[in-house]
Amino acid sequence: MIQLDLRGQVAVVTGGSSGIGLATAELFLQAGASVAICGRDSDRLARAERELRERHPQAQLLAARCDVLDANDVAAFASAVEQRFGRADMLVNNAGQGRVSTFADTTDEAWREELDLKYFSIIRPTRAFLPMLKSTAKQGKNASIVCVNSLLALQPEPHMVATSSARAGVLSLIKSLAVELAPEHIRVNSILIGIVESGQWRRRYDNDAAAQAAGQSWQDWTGELARKKHIPLGRFGLPEEAAQALFYLATSLSSYTTGSHIDVSGGVARHV
Ligand code: NDP
Repeated sequence: MIQLDLRGQVAVVTGGSSGIGLATAELFLQAGASVAICGRDSDRLARAERELRERHPQAQLLAARCDVLDANDVAAFASAVEQRFGRADMLVNNAGQGRVSTFADTTDEAWREELDLKYFSIIRPTRAFLPMLKSTAKQGKNASIVCVNSLLALQPEPHMVATSSARAGVLSLIKSLAVELAPEHIRVNSILIGIVESGQWRRRYDNDAAAQAAGQSWQDWTGELARKKHIPLGRFGLPEEAAQALFYLATSLSSYTTGSHIDVSGGVARHV
């Protein structure tokens, strides 16, 4: 992999306490960046912070409890980052989770919750960190926003109707943001992921009573699902694989790319 020296740059990763966010925080630390992560669960956050500090004893790391859907939390997180590091260069909007439901079993309330999560997990952190990103861009330095989106945005699944629909809207939002912020030299991109091994899928495995009763291993469970879902590469993605695409889009490696997305779906995308 190309080595980048990100010392002096600050990367903010929402939902950095698990899965893709944690793997992304790790990549930024490896490259020498200062990193701020957030999540809602204090124990999970403390565990992630401990792990990262063990592997990177010199890490410039801030781990803050923050629900990205709470405007006050997000404002407090942004001001903690400003106080600690004095700047933000790259914002990774990653926090969130999917909702498994068909049209028949999605209530109005569930629709609102899902739209709220998908839109405001981007809108709130973007708004809060924009002043710092603008000042980074004014110094002529790389300033970027990258969002974790899903292939469902382009290829909806009926069993995830609300998530798919919200993901499509988010793809449009990201394009609009990219156009609006391009004159200010802030790039905005996203990744479209398929299935990535992460906390969400670990929890589904743990809660699959049949698999647990049969003593099915994690490897066999994910392998069977990959076959059922016809994933051409034959397996789930790893958090590190999503993180590498996020790293590329966040850093100056992708300095001429904005309003775009990278497919990290193992070949599941059917469109040309
Ligand atoms: P994980 O559950 O492993 O990680 C999710 C992270 O987001 C955790 O750190 C979690 O911490 C945090 N989080 C969730 N909600 C909030 C919130 N409201 N405010 C702040 N932090 C929050 O899952 P993934 O790594 O898989 O998920 C990362 C992103 O990728 C999510 O947006 C997810 O929807 C998306 N995605 C994942 C797919 C997959 O197959 N893994 C497929 C498609 C999209 P805490 O719960 O403590 O707040």
